[in-house]
Amino acid sequence: MNKYEYLLQDLTKLKGVGRKTASILKKKNINTFLDIIFRLPESYTDRTNLVNISNLQIGKISTIKVVVRKYNFPRVRNLPNKVICDDNTGKVECVFFNSFEGYIKKILPLNKEVTISGKFNYFRNTYQISNPKYISKESNLILKKHNKYSLTEGITENVYNNIINQILINLPKLDEWLSDEILKNFNNESWQDSIIKIHDPNNAGDTKSNFYKRLAFDEILSSLIVFSQIRKKIKKIKKKRKIFKNISNNTFEKKIGFKLTNDQSKTLNEINHDLSSRSKMFRILQGDVGSGKTIVALIAAINVVNSGYQVAFMAPTEILARQHYILSKKIFSEEVNISLLTSKTENKDKKIIIEKIKNNKTNIVFGTHSLFQKKIIFNNLGFIIIDEQHKFGVKQRKGLSDKGGNNCDVLLMSATPIPRTLTMTIYGDMDLSIIKEKPKFRKEVKTYSKLESKINEIVKFVKKEINNNNQIFWVCPLIADSKKIDHVSTQKRYDYLKKIFKNNVNVLHGNVDNENKEKILNDFLNKRFSILISTTIIEVGIDFPNANVIIIENANKFGLSQLHQLRGRVGRGEKDSSCILMFKSNLSENAKKRIQILKKSNDGFFISEEDMKLRGYGDILGFKQSGVKNFKLADPIQNEDLFVLAEKEIKRIEENEKSLIKYKPLLKLYDQAEIINDLV
Ligand code: ADP
Ligand code: MG
Repeated sequence: MNKYEYLLQDLTKLKGVGRKTASILKKKNINTFLDIIFRLPESYTDRTNLVNISNLQIGKISTIKVVVRKYNFPRVRNLPNKVICDDNTGKVECVFFNSFEGYIKKILPLNKEVTISGKFNYFRNTYQISNPKYISKESNLILKKHNKYSLTEGITENVYNNIINQILINLPKLDEWLSDEILKNFNNESWQDSIIKIHDPNNAGDTKSNFYKRLAFDEILSSLIVFSQIRKKIKKIKKKRKIFKNISNNTFEKKIGFKLTNDQSKTLNEINHDLSSRSKMFRILQGDVGSGKTIVALIAAINVVNSGYQVAFMAPTEILARQHYILSKKIFSEEVNISLLTSKTENKDKKIIIEKIKNNKTNIVFGTHSLFQKKIIFNNLGFIIIDEQHKFGVKQRKGLSDKGGNNCDVLLMSATPIPRTLTMTIYGDMDLSIIKEKPKFRKEVKTYSKLESKINEIVKFVKKEINNNNQIFWVCPLIADSKKIDHVSTQKRYDYLKKIFKNNVNVLHGNVDNENKEKILNDFLNKRFSILISTTIIEVGIDFPNANVIIIENANKFGLSQLHQLRGRVGRGEKDSSCILMFKSNLSENAKKRIQILKKSNDGFFISEEDMKLRGYGDILGFKQSGVKNFKLADPIQNEDLFVLAEKEIKRIEENEKSLIKYKPLLKLYDQAEIINDLV
């Protein structure tokens, strides 16, 4: 068996791991030795506190050395078995419920000395311990620190520690993949030593030591190697240049009614440069909500159309696709043929649109992911734009990039500002354009919190806003009332507000049919009504500059970044705007903290960082759904220095092509080898 085969063995190969234990672990996705190795102890239980019975403290974990004196097995149902033990200072009773006599006699043999650890009680003048788990004739097995792992129900600490110890005893020494220079940063800790050290209870929670950092670095490096390989592969693809005359910004600025910001122009230039180059573009455009990404993408799209290619513009929701479509109809000349295709498009229309796409009669098609079905065949696709799709993982992105063929450029857009280290690990396969500044005259959205019971005050506020000719979003978590979840529904809120505001209220959610959806959106845009009650379908992308108030019910239910996204629906025009977060009951400390962050800042970058500190980076932004694996050890916030170091190392590796072989073992450890084989 080679070293990797050892690590990839099934846990059932170990002593004490039967089918039952294995199947419990399997549910947690723990199958092999390797899976165990990378699960770190969370803390430990200290059992080194050896005391005399007379000094036992109630309810505190203590360890005693005693001699077994007497069995008391009543042989009556429901009465526990008891074993009396003592030391020079007193007596203790071990009480067993539901345990077999044979088992008890084995672990507590008469007249022998044993070490027992646990929490003790004092009952009828005697010290007692119920169902003690830490008993041994060898005191050194008990008198130590015992690792605590987050355990699945059905697996005891003992069983789990036994598994780990067996694996660690025979842990192979792997050939070193890190360069000498890098290793120096970690005091030359080898992989094997590092693994053993992170499982030493004395080191539980220590993330600052060299052995921990070495392992975290390994993990970061392996993920960056994968990205580097994908980038390299994409960069090698040669395409036909797109030849177009740069339309002067003026022409557009007249139609859209504003000047592009510097960052919009800068990023547009980067994109145009890629479009007209010989290499395929694979780029992400990042910018906070409201930074104006759409227009940049649309101008790029028109350039591609002018160079003779088709464009596919994909949005995460049908509503957003529709909005982009409506905007394009407004700003592009009639010569540009545009279509909208979503899963909700009626069949007969769908056929016509698909036909037009196939015959090059459509220049730009807007849609949801339904754009990428097999039956949709583009005549001459040259550009794919994907809006707000951070839920795509590496494989899906690569799939998209392949879909259009070599001549097809790809642009992703994302409003989720994340720290650079995280960008590196999530979008490391792409080139990056960032819009940092927001359009001028933007004002901060004022944020308030209100109890649901004070809805009267909110209604009063809304009336005042409507009198000033303003519009309001009113967001509810549910469409209809639910027996299971106690949240406000659009239906309930509509019934309530309708009585007050009559026809000035409307509802929009995923179940509204197409025709109505378009009508509602248009009516809201044209100010035919003032309050739009909706679910979070308006969360991403939706743009109604005249709306300046957003009210969010059950705000507790949403994450910070999501609230920031929702809030980003207002504050797009030049008016003062506000966001009211509604709560059912008084706020918990944690909720208060979150609200403070939102009140304090309108900066998505800051908010996502704070969100990460509160919840961990994997939980936010829906990255978990994307197949982007959570790091096991590395942390994009804590280990920024390691990311920078890894980035440098990657450059060195890229310059020296052959050196990759050395990293194969590393890639295997982090389950990346397969991705490389798949993708490259
Ligand atoms: P996001 O980056 O969140 O996708 P949008 O593209 O939806 O932002 O733009 C947000 C709002 O800002 C829209 O109403 C858009 O018309 C407006 N906008 C975009 N660029 C500018 C600009 N340079 N000056 C003023 N308003 C702008
Ligand atoms: Mg957008």
